[in-house]
Amino acid sequence: MSTATQSGQLALLDLPVPAELTAAQMRGAHCVWCAAELHGATAVDLEPRRDSIKGVPGRWYPRGCRRCTRKPLLMLVRTHPGTCEQCTDDAFLCETRRALRSLTLELRR
Ligand SMILES: [Zn+2]
Ligand SMILES: [Zn+2]
Repeated sequence: MSTATQSGQLALLDLPVPAELTAAQMRGAHCVWCAAELHGATAVDLEPRRDSIKGVPGRWYPRGCRRCTRKPLLMLVRTHPGTCEQCTDDAFLCETRRALRSLTLELRR
């Protein structure tokens, strides 16, 4: 099992499939969930993704607004321990869990 890095936690979030998104959503100009226009201060970087887009393998750069990102993030905090060896072993030592939690607090502001 690979260890997630400090900056890689959001790569774990479930996103809509690229086929359902607009070009602006794919390049991170609009929220990947609600399609609101994003500005630096309100946007959450969701990590570059590699997917097959219309049959062609490619990269896309999803971003979300804070409000939309919180919900799947909270879900991930809840489901993460069930999918993590470190959490089964000792949840207090899991960096992914810690990073996810601090991210949730950050988005609450
Ligand atoms: Zn949104
Ligand atoms: Zn964990």
